[in-house]
Amino acid sequence: MIPDERSKNKYVGCMLGAAIGDAIGKQNEGVTREYILRKGCLKDFGIAVDGTPGDKLRPGDYTDDTEQMLVLAGSLIDNNGFDVIDFSQRIAKWGKDALNDPIRKSFVGPTSAIAIERLNSGVSWKESGGDFPSCGSAMRAAPVGLFYDDLDDVESNAALSSMPTHSNKISIAGSVAVAIAVRCALDEKDCEDIISETCARTSKYDAGIAEKIKLSFEHRNNEPDEVFSELGTSYLVFDTVPCAFYCFTRHFENPERAIIEAVNAGGDTDSIACITGALGGALHGNTFPVRWLEGLENKGLIEETAGKMYEKRRHSISSKNINERFL
Ligand SMILES: [Mg+2]
Repeated sequence: MIPDERSKNKYVGCMLGAAIGDAIGKQNEGVTREYILRKGCLKDFGIAVDGTPGDKLRPGDYTDDTEQMLVLAGSLIDNNGFDVIDFSQRIAKWGKDALNDPIRKSFVGPTSAIAIERLNSGVSWKESGGDFPSCGSAMRAAPVGLFYDDLDDVESNAALSSMPTHSNKISIAGSVAVAIAVRCALDEKDCEDIISETCARTSKYDAGIAEKIKLSFEHRNNEPDEVFSELGTSYLVFDTVPCAFYCFTRHFENPERAIIEAVNAGGDTDSIACITGALGGALHGNTFPVRWLEGLENKGLIEETAGKMYEKRRHSISSKNINERFL
């Protein structure tokens, strides 16, 4: 049994890690690994490369990855569980606001943008999701792993949480992979067990991405240049998610180094690093350096949200215990 304070710190670490990875990674979003190596690898917050989606954001500001993660967390907290209708309404409102904001509109992904338009014109969540395998539902999925402590609940709700925006089976699989690995990391399974549980459940939705996650683990001791080029670093979910698992397992004992690896991968660096940070934070808790914590946008809000997630999870466990006692 993990003591309460340590357990709560892991919830906070997961959400802060995601936001930190996103906020550092946005600086390299959409640029190549070669460009990054030429200009020098990132270790800290800063301004994004001109012409990239986050180039109008301040150092330490995060992007749509963290914003959507917070929307999902808020829906779980307020509904005491995942409610697909409520989440669809919230994501539609979030998307409308983001697309009307000159600074934030460019970082809403193409699949999300189409789904948001459909949801806002009255299309049901069952029909609104885009059938394109991008990573928009995987990058926000960590709160499902935080909220549910039963792996069957994590899997089914992570899959459902993808549907309103991303109905492609590979996107659904990516969402399941992230949420399951977050839960396994919270529960302090070892590296091999996290990968095998994640791949077993992910393969029910798409065998290809599960195989690639396994490969990213098997190649964790190979050089980043070789592995990033082998896996691909695009915003397609079968690139983004395995790359994050490579960074996470390569630096399994050091979440700070895992995030630094991810933000310099090239391609969809904000999402790769967001997922990497969520996994490392769920395993180790908030052990991130002060220079990152002090500069992060809405640090207090993220900590508060993670604390509420923790309390709600505790509440659901105690009510289950109370019910069992009175049955
Ligand atoms: Mg982003």
